[in-house]
Amino acid sequence: MFDEIDVNGICHCGKIEINARVKKNEIRACHCTDCQKFSGAPLRAIAIAPADKIKVRGIPKEYMKVADSGNKRIQAFCPDCGTQLFATDIKRKTFNLRTGFLKQKNKLEPKTHVFTQSAMPWIFKIK
Ligand SMILES: [Zn+2]
Repeated sequence: MFDEIDVNGICHCGKIEINARVKKNEIRACHCTDCQKFSGAPLRAIAIAPADKIKVRGIPKEYMKVADSGNKRIQAFCPDCGTQLFATDIKRKTFNLRTGFLKQKNKLEPKTHVFTQSAMPWIFKIK
């Protein structure tokens, strides 16, 4: 499909490698406060892959995030270097890949901004 792209990435220390196929029109820039905290950055970009389109080599460490609503999300990262890899639901149906560790990141242009109510006030002033 023309709107899909194969992506691959390796964490900073090389322990974890991920290959996936993501849909270009589902790439988002997320400004939620959890993304800000987990990433240590003002926002996080994500690309979405269904479970049958992702392969993980190595064993990421997982942290279960429980939202105020009770909703649970698995946050996966390298146990050694801390590179953030993906988030997924408890049934592991859909994987939200962090685009920053993917080789193709310069082609992974977000199509939407989400949770803009918690975006940095300066973020849309940048040229
Ligand atoms: Zn690592």
